[in-house]
Amino acid sequence: MKVITKKEEVKSTMEALSDLGKSIGFVPTMGALHEGHLALIEKSLKENEVTVCSIFVNPLQFNNSEDFKRYPNTFDADKQMLAEVGCHFLFAPIADEFYHGVAQKKYDFGLLSEIMEASYRPGHFEGVATVISEFFQVIEPTRAYFGEKDYQQLAIVRWLVAHENFNSEIISCPTVRNESGLALSSRNQRLSKKGVKEAEAIYQTMAFCVKNAPHYPLQDLAKMATQKLQSSMEVEYLEILEERSFQKMQEWNKEGRFRVFIAAQLEGIRLIDNLSLNP
Ligand code: AMP
Repeated sequence: MKVITKKEEVKSTMEALSDLGKSIGFVPTMGALHEGHLALIEKSLKENEVTVCSIFVNPLQFNNSEDFKRYPNTFDADKQMLAEVGCHFLFAPIADEFYHGVAQKKYDFGLLSEIMEASYRPGHFEGVATVISEFFQVIEPTRAYFGEKDYQQLAIVRWLVAHENFNSEIISCPTVRNESGLALSSRNQRLSKKGVKEAEAIYQTMAFCVKNAPHYPLQDLAKMATQKLQSSMEVEYLEILEERSFQKMQEWNKEGRFRVFIAAQLEGIRLIDNLSLNP
């Protein structure tokens, strides 16, 4: 696996591969890799001739400087993991060089700018869109892989690709969980053993919503589920929304695809997750 840190080098390398007709799969990450990330890499390896993974803790997408400072860094282990699964390129830029001459753009994502992550993390998605836009300009991936775990981010990336006319296909990948249902996340590394156990309440609450969705008005169910989860952790939001329009609806209907979205704090660590309510 070749490690590249310079933007110009990744650009010329990808251009040369593209000129040879190679398909390029791209998996952006912030490192501290786990099985969830590896599932994305493996899918990319199956579907493309060349796979590039990036590791970049993007300062622009952190609205909380403490969270940025404490973000786990396991770069050497990550590099080894990527080499072992057969990833071809690791792009690991340095922020100053990567953003040299790049102005943070203003975006209006419509409703996506107002709800859930956008309202709790001001500027977060503008930071995400800025970094993804830069990555796509230099890598020009045939396909790029994103996890459903960050469902609103996935919608933002799809919006970005449509609005900036990138010629890349966005592939979504299901959330990888541990045996108790807890979504794997780099931030879980900062939870105590007790915290990991307590965090299972997130999945249990989502499972409660799945089970009860056909029997209660959806927003009443959201309130019940919030109360249930509040006994284990500090809930930032728990929303039940139609998963394509992100609209709040009260009644279950067969045409709609509904999803429960949760953000909560446990031991000072912010955890997010979501699950489809449709059978
Ligand atoms: P991150 O390093 O947290 O920025 O995540 C990089 C990519 O991996 C994003 O597209 C995430 O949605 C995805 N991802 C993170 N955790 C998981 C998981 N447990 N299952 C599937 N994909 C994940």
